Amino acid sequence: MPGKKFSSVEMIGRLIGFDTTSRESNLALIEFIRDYLDRWRVKSELVYDEGRRKANLYATIGPDHVGGVLLSGHTDVVPIDDQDWSSDPFKAEIRDDAIFGRGACDMKSFIAVALAKVPEMLEHGLDVPIHFAFTYDEEVGCLGVRPLIEVLKNRPVKPRLCIIGEPTLMQPATAHKGSRRLRCHVHGHEAHSSLTHRGVNAIDAAAELVVQLKNIARRKRTQGPFDAQFDPPYTTISTGTIQGGTAFNIVPKECRFDFQIRNVPEDDPEAITDELKHFAASLLPEMQDVSQAASIAFEEQNIVPALSTPLDAEVVQLALELSGANGTCKVSFGTEGGLFQQAGIPSVVCGPGSIAQAHKPDEFVALDQVRQCEDFVDRLIERVRR
Ligand SMILES: [Zn+2]
Repeated sequence: MPGKKFSSVEMIGRLIGFDTTSRESNLALIEFIRDYLDRWRVKSELVYDEGRRKANLYATIGPDHVGGVLLSGHTDVVPIDDQDWSSDPFKAEIRDDAIFGRGACDMKSFIAVALAKVPEMLEHGLDVPIHFAFTYDEEVGCLGVRPLIEVLKNRPVKPRLCIIGEPTLMQPATAHKGSRRLRCHVHGHEAHSSLTHRGVNAIDAAAELVVQLKNIARRKRTQGPFDAQFDPPYTTISTGTIQGGTAFNIVPKECRFDFQIRNVPEDDPEAITDELKHFAASLLPEMQDVSQAASIAFEEQNIVPALSTPLDAEVVQLALELSGANGTCKVSFGTEGGLFQQAGIPSVVCGPGSIAQAHKPDEFVALDQVRQCEDFVDRLIERVRR
């Protein structure tokens, strides 16, 4: 065999060594994986972003005429800016039975374990293929996986099911909330602040809209729909930024604000935006009485659909069996799983490490979690081998 073998821990160290903060290129890491697979005679396909600065990697081990089990992970990590680390975040360090480094749990360890197991997959030969999908720009809105899914959709054969290795302490998660980010632009009319009746105050209108969002959020909190497995167990709405106006004595012409809806799977975020748009329409006559040009516009910034996979789905049963976990959970963070599910590939989230360590200084994955992830992949190989 021509390829080089890595232990999982060695491979985790190699992957952490690439600074793949979302704003940077991930190509060095992707090319390292491609070359590693190449030496094991596994072909990879790269799906680039528009500027060819970043790429997703897709590969199949085993037969290519049937759909198999997709192991999916994002290669990008969140920034270390203003974080106080005890060791170099891009140099894996083992201490206290854990591996420290940016991406240790979110989520290079899962990718590394899958890669380290490639020689064993090849040695046995597989009846059902194992696919890899390693993506870019997950942390900034699940951007990279979208063009990859477009490519997969047009294939005669696509993965039958998908396991997303985000950190769940190796417990299969069947659901997460959806996320919808919107920007609202309010366009009013400037006037001297002594002549308010000749102006259209854009901040006033924006404030009414923000309060309306707050009212909807209160209703969700008290009336649901509820799902007790989420924290909190209802849809949330949060206004994140607001900008407008130029001086205290000018009726402001412009105001804009950003807000985010995180919906439980059984709730419809579209209905919430429709309700807000309806309310906006009710504000317009008064504004347009003063200026015909007054307007309120909404701009969709990013949508990540909720994930909700039925307990009796094949992928859930498989993940339960491979992990040895005695139950499933639901997670509060979004993943690429909602997009895979939307594309007809049933998904669960199951990976090493805890989300409590993600995005923080001194991010780590416990060595025991790495071992559990190895067991998971070993059992998968056992299941699909010849
Ligand atoms: Zn992640």
